[in-house]
Amino acid sequence: MRIVLASGNRGKLEELTRILSPLGVELSYLKDYPEISPAPEDGETFEENAIKKAKAVCEATGEIVLADDSGLQVDCLNGAPGVFSARFSGAEANDEKNNEKLLRLLKGIPREKRGAGFVCVVALAIPGGQVYTAKGTCRGVIKEYPEGESGFGYDPLFEIPDLGKTFSQLDPETKNLISHRGKALELMKEIISGLVIS
Ligand code: IMP
Repeated sequence: MRIVLASGNRGKLEELTRILSPLGVELSYLKDYPEISPAPEDGETFEENAIKKAKAVCEATGEIVLADDSGLQVDCLNGAPGVFSARFSGAEANDEKNNEKLLRLLKGIPREKRGAGFVCVVALAIPGGQVYTAKGTCRGVIKEYPEGESGFGYDPLFEIPDLGKTFSQLDPETKNLISHRGKALELMKEIISGLVIS
């Protein structure tokens, strides 16, 4: 089975290749299709964005397409930044500015009210119109200061209370085992393996 990843991110391609190649799945990504630009992430939910991205590339290539959308939902911010996680600090947003903004908004909020969750939805679009989705979540607490070196995005601020460590303090394998993306991909792996067999 051939699957196109609706992303030009090499890191995501490598992560997915590790997970899906044992099923005999051959993966390519948007860099292999320079004529296709990714659909804008302008939906109100992670599901909407993931499905929209997967369908758009599926229609353009005629291939089976996998897309994902993810973000951070902070309880005391009513679920913000949510689908705006990447652009939280505005047009010139980057990880550092996004983390600064989050710390500013949570200044003075005690630890017991700093609960948050990462969410990831992956969508698989099949030519002909069928779409499958899988969702993974991971609960944690937003620290008052960043800790750890690895990862990206909000990783240095997101602590897993049971481990007493932020995502940035975990090695990638451990993060993948418990993360929203790891869980969503494990569920999607089951769906894809069902399709490969049938
Ligand atoms: P996207 O789904 O790749 O567009 O990611 C959206 C944004 O959510 C990223 O730019 C990060 O700010 C945030 N995000 C998603 N997953 C993670 C994660 O595992 N760690 C840290 N930040 C994340």
